Amino acid sequence: MTATAPSQSKITYTSADVDWESFHRQFDEALAQVRSRLGRSYPLYIAGEAVSSSAEPIVDTSPIDTGVVLGTFATATVAHVDQAVGAARAAQAAWGRRDWRERVALLQRAAALIRERKFELAAIMSLEVGKSRLESMGDAEESADLIDYYCRQMKDADGFVREMAKVTPVEHNTDVLRPYGVFACIAPFNFPLALSTGMSSAALVAGNAVVYKPAEDAPWTGLALYEIYRDAGLPAGVFDYLSGHGSEAGEALWRHPQVDGVVFTGSKKVGMHIYHDLSSRWIKPCLLELGGKNAAIVMDTADLDAAAEGITRSAFGLQNQKCSATSRVYVHQKVATALIEKVLERTRALTIGDPTERDVFFGPVINREAVAKYERAVKQAKREGEILVGGERLKGDRFDRGHFVAPTIAKLPLESSLFRDELFVPFLAVGEVSGLEQAIAETNKAEYGLTAGIFTKRDAEIARFFDEVEAGVCYVNKRTGATTGAWPGAQPFTGWKGSGSSGKGGCGPYYVAQFMREQSRTVIDS
Ligand code: NDP
Repeated sequence: MTATAPSQSKITYTSADVDWESFHRQFDEALAQVRSRLGRSYPLYIAGEAVSSSAEPIVDTSPIDTGVVLGTFATATVAHVDQAVGAARAAQAAWGRRDWRERVALLQRAAALIRERKFELAAIMSLEVGKSRLESMGDAEESADLIDYYCRQMKDADGFVREMAKVTPVEHNTDVLRPYGVFACIAPFNFPLALSTGMSSAALVAGNAVVYKPAEDAPWTGLALYEIYRDAGLPAGVFDYLSGHGSEAGEALWRHPQVDGVVFTGSKKVGMHIYHDLSSRWIKPCLLELGGKNAAIVMDTADLDAAAEGITRSAFGLQNQKCSATSRVYVHQKVATALIEKVLERTRALTIGDPTERDVFFGPVINREAVAKYERAVKQAKREGEILVGGERLKGDRFDRGHFVAPTIAKLPLESSLFRDELFVPFLAVGEVSGLEQAIAETNKAEYGLTAGIFTKRDAEIARFFDEVEAGVCYVNKRTGATTGAWPGAQPFTGWKGSGSSGKGGCGPYYVAQFMREQSRTVIDS
């Protein structure tokens, strides 16, 4: 790779033009630094104070080697949730009244701190959730860009204050978007920094306070975000950090009567549960970004090398644990054999191993439950169709201490439920179709509607794909990732159907406004 970019250049999930020697050197230094801090104990943070818990702590181990304890994290109880929501409510009043420009300036400091600490953050994520170096750096960079993008939305809308028309000559009408108050922010493990930062920064810049619960598989990254906001100067209590279990702290958090809204990214199952029960006394905003079962369609005119590369990258980047990952392929029967051969060739060539090491593309899955889910899917695929590659746990020195499974591709009959259920493990279902109509019909059968991709040279097929596919994020001929790679300000990330609740996604231009409610102000000349 040629050295063309400066050492601190931005790295996205698909970067190519990077000074890799410098990147790896800085990553190695950060990794050594982060490793020197393994095994410490960490408290909760409420109202800016460290708070301990007598509940059994969360022992955060690495999916690469479960014998490595990254840290021990306090487990929030229902009482801690109550305390944190109280602190957030107390702090919100002043925060929400502050000039929006001050909030923007403060959050932009947080973005700058993320950029300053990005190698350290990437090293933590690589160890904690098993991301490759490139994936973890993409996560850190995206986090900073998300903050900047949401700050820009405040600026572009001039703080969401707008003069309105007069109905009579004596009145002065203003429309103002104002914060709701306290948002519960609950995040998944897979983009532990970007999703936590995106959800929380939008809520914060809009003037809300946030009580934040990271995934129990990623509390260390969550704590790093708390430290960034604190060091950027966010007032105590405006962002409170509760490591804990979803079933206890998470459940108590969104159910808390003093919580004014929920922003959640995670599975459809948990999201639907929250949506059903959240609004009992009145309706509260419930911004959900949920699962996906994303299809790549390959038509008979497609560039098969581009399709194979895009599919392999999107199916096996981060071990398929992306909500946008390609998990099914519908290929035109005329080119099925040729395409499958190319995808298999690329899959066999993936570098599998410890993802903190340079050049490793494919690491472990997150935990034991993910391995069990993988094994169940493989068993079902063997019954219903044919495993073309993979299909087993990886064994041997490098793999025995972690959650390693082989990237797997299965050819299946279209009616298999493996084409419709989200698995979130490295398992790609492939089926043959007779044409675009059938491909789109099969794609739309899933309850999910997050991302979708097509490879074709026919303009009419592209137009029909956009018109008929039920997905919020659509890609055509994307070699760097058939269904993945959205970036703030470039690809709004909106889940349709079972993939989201609000119809306006993160990374998009309408996101921040959803954290505010409208107030019309009429003053009559006296
Ligand atoms: P989960 O739904 O299992 O967990 C998400 C978060 O919710 C975690 O913090 C979890 O805590 C918490 N939680 C669990 N149960 C409850 C509850 N009853 N009340 C409140 N909080 C609860 O998802 P995963 O972490 O496994 O993440 C993977 C899922 O996220 C996939 O479905 C994926 O598609 C989706 N996702 C969607 C994205 C999008 O933008 N649409 C982006 C990224 C992921 P704990 O960890 O303690 O269980």
